[in-house]
Amino acid sequence: MADFKIWMNGRLVLQAEAVLPVNSAAVFYATNVFEGLRAYWNERDGELYGFRLADHFARLRESMKMMRFTVPYSVDDVFEAVRAVLAGNEAREDIHMHLVAYVGGAGLDATSPTGLYVNPRRRPRVEEGGGLKCCVSSWVRTSDNAIPIRLKCGANYQNGRLATLQARADGYDQPLLLNKEGHVAEGTGATFFMVRKGRLVTPPITADILESITRTTLMDAICPELLGMGVVEREIDRTELYVADEAFLCGSGYEITPIVSIDRFPLGDGKVGPITNRLLRAYMDIVRGVDKRFPEWRTPTYRTVRV
Ligand code: PMP
Repeated sequence: MADFKIWMNGRLVLQAEAVLPVNSAAVFYATNVFEGLRAYWNERDGELYGFRLADHFARLRESMKMMRFTVPYSVDDVFEAVRAVLAGNEAREDIHMHLVAYVGGAGLDATSPTGLYVNPRRRPRVEEGGGLKCCVSSWVRTSDNAIPIRLKCGANYQNGRLATLQARADGYDQPLLLNKEGHVAEGTGATFFMVRKGRLVTPPITADILESITRTTLMDAICPELLGMGVVEREIDRTELYVADEAFLCGSGYEITPIVSIDRFPLGDGKVGPITNRLLRAYMDIVRGVDKRFPEWRTPTYRTVRV
């Protein structure tokens, strides 16, 4: 199937035409900030729902602020870009998008001109069925006073890239990263949750993690309201991983992706756990709008554009 067109600085262009100058800070230093977000097609409603778009736009602006980018566009402009790319591609299927703000100027201190593009793509679920075999990486999560993970910039992902390549070379699916204090931080592009002694536990936002929108969705709403389980936010030690009953990664891209072993220690009975399975189903029904609760999280992008 043909690639989707990319929305770039106000125009829909083919992938091959979406180019950046080699001397731009964006290309040379990876001076960009981005969001990975999804829109879910609901056949019954004839609608493509963008999930928590406002929260992604707010985080993009926070990243731009921390990077001292000049910001020539408003939240409404970003909204229009996302709508335009979905409408322009006549998307009637699940879409994952990279929403990227970059610096087109040259030099380490360049803060402008800022460009924006939205790159839609098909992205299947990370792991169907079996669950991930993870390891604890010997690479340490970059820290807030070095390259803060709270700031969602492309360059940050080199830390996760090193850890991923090491994990793959050692025969694992994915690494988990510890922070400089030696506590569990997160996955390379997803937040970590575990179940221990009947409780859901996740690291605090000061553990060198991204302030994940999916994490908030689970903690503030889905776990307490749909599963009747609160989430404990606290530091997690490495050895707790090995005796956890269940664990999963979550994120806009990862959705809810079960973990079945860590450093070859099977979690629980080594299969996807029951709480993880319930959460996965509840989450997927909410994002797609099969479950109509929390309508404020779903933006009906398709109908808005067409009517
Ligand atoms: N941590 C990192 C480093 C990520 O890249 C992501 C994906 N954006 C997450 C966590 C999960 O964040 P969210 O739920 O907002 O997608």
